[in-house]
Amino acid sequence: MKLLKDAILERGRVKDGDVLKVDAFLNHQMDVELINEIGREFHRLYKGQGVNKILTIEASGIGIACIAAQHFGVPVVFVKKTQSRNIDGEVYTSKVTSFTHQREYDVIVSKNFLNENDRVLLIDDFLAKGSALLGLIELVRQSGATIVGAGICIEKGFDTGGKLVRSEGVHVESLAIIKEFKDGKIVFED
Ligand code: 5GP
Repeated sequence: MKLLKDAILERGRVKDGDVLKVDAFLNHQMDVELINEIGREFHRLYKGQGVNKILTIEASGIGIACIAAQHFGVPVVFVKKTQSRNIDGEVYTSKVTSFTHQREYDVIVSKNFLNENDRVLLIDDFLAKGSALLGLIELVRQSGATIVGAGICIEKGFDTGGKLVRSEGVHVESLAIIKEFKDGKIVFED
């Protein structure tokens, strides 16, 4: 998606060799017009496939998912990160290792909001090692719902997550795939 790639080139910054900061427009300050175009693109890619729910993970995914959801006319459910060991039986649970915080979280979603009749689109800002997306996939599988696919804003194509998730049979559409960071510059896949 040209608009997103242009934003990354103009307003993104590469930090510590392999971290892309997009906090000027995507996950701290949010460029709502750009994110609305991202939502429109996810809808173009997944319309007509019976999506009735969008699932994302707190915190960065929520805003993007909500704007996308307006194009689909469906609700958003966001998975919560928790450190509590005291999880009752009313939730599906999985684990996610946070790339940005370098720690493992239990992640939960209420059984009230995900069930076998749902057709779910997963949305997140980044796909890197795949831990966040695999955590979401595990929760959907526990619920018996169908995964229609995943919509990712930025995939690090050089990292392991994309292959891992696709090898699970999940359809992934990434709007910008980074091939490499070369001397601090961002190179996209075609
Ligand atoms: P994964 O679980 O696929 O390794 O990483 C996905 C999560 O880590 C995303 O939700 C995102 O918040 C964060 N993340 C991974 N790589 C980057 C990066 O280069 N920049 C930023 N800002 N976040 C990242």
